[in-house]
Amino acid sequence: MTEFKSTTMKPTHTEKGTSQKSSLFNVEENEVIRNKRSIPWVRLEEGLHTSGCPLCEIVLTSAHKHLDSLLYEYVNDVSVRKKLHASFGFCNHHAWLAKEVERELKSDGQHLATLHESLLKAELRLLQEASGTKRIAAKKKETNPVLQHLLKTFAPSGECLLCASSRQTEEFYASQFVLMYSDNEFRALFEAETILMCRPHFLSVMREAHDRATAEYFLNQQTKKIERLLNQLKLFLEKHDVQHQHEPRGKEWTSWLQVLEHFSCKQGIDRLWDPYSPSNQNK
Ligand SMILES: [Zn+2]
Ligand SMILES: [Zn+2]
Repeated sequence: MTEFKSTTMKPTHTEKGTSQKSSLFNVEENEVIRNKRSIPWVRLEEGLHTSGCPLCEIVLTSAHKHLDSLLYEYVNDVSVRKKLHASFGFCNHHAWLAKEVERELKSDGQHLATLHESLLKAELRLLQEASGTKRIAAKKKETNPVLQHLLKTFAPSGECLLCASSRQTEEFYASQFVLMYSDNEFRALFEAETILMCRPHFLSVMREAHDRATAEYFLNQQTKKIERLLNQLKLFLEKHDVQHQHEPRGKEWTSWLQVLEHFSCKQGIDRLWDPYSPSNQNK
C-alpha cells in the first residue's frame, strides 16, 4: 500500500507565492468555518452518521425530501409540469418512490393524480394524432415517414426530473467532501470503520479533488477501508469451511453486502455516473 505522508496536511497551493498561499489558506479555512453553520454541513453530517457510503445516503435522502415537497406543494407548478412532460413521467425508481411518499403524506393518490393529469391528456393527444394518420401502416417501419415521426414525438426529450436533481446533489456534495476534508470533525466521522464510499462516489470525490493533498487523503482512506473489507470478506468465506463453521460470527458476516454496495451503490441509486447505462447513452 502506498504511504502518503501528506494525509494530515491541509491543502497546499504550490503554484502560488507564499503570501498568496497564506491568504488562500485563510479563504479556505473561513469557508470551512462558514460551511459548518450551513445546511450542506448538516446533510453531510447526517450522511456520515449512517453506515456505508455517505454520498449514496445524502442522494437518497435528498431525492426523498425533494419528492415530498414536490407532491405536497408543487403538483401545479408550471416548471415541474414542463420537466415531467419532457421525460414522460418519472423513471421507474422515482415513480415507485413517489408512490411511497404519497402514502407517507397519508394521501389516497390525489397528488400524483393531479401531477399526471395533463401528462395523460398529452399522451392521449399524441395517440389521437397518430390514429388520425391514414398512411401509418402503408409502408415498412424503416421507410414509413409517418411512423418515424410518431416514434419521434413519443420519445422523451429530457431526463426524469428527480434523476436530474440527484445528479446535481451528487456533484454538489462531492465538492463538499473536498471542501470539508481538512476539518477535524469531518475526519473523525469519515474515518470511522462504518463509513466506506462506494466506488462511483469515491470517483466523484476524486474528480473534485483539485490538489495533491486532497486526492492523497481520499485515496489513502479508500485504500485502508478496502483492505479492511477484503480481510473481512476472506474471513467470511473461511468461516464457511467445515473446520471453522462453529466459530463466532462478527462484522465479517455482512461484508458481502458491503462489497455489493461498494461496486453498485446503495439500493435506489441509479447508475447516473455510468456511461454504459442505457439511460445515459444519448447524453
Ligand atoms: Zn455512494
Ligand atoms: Zn429518476
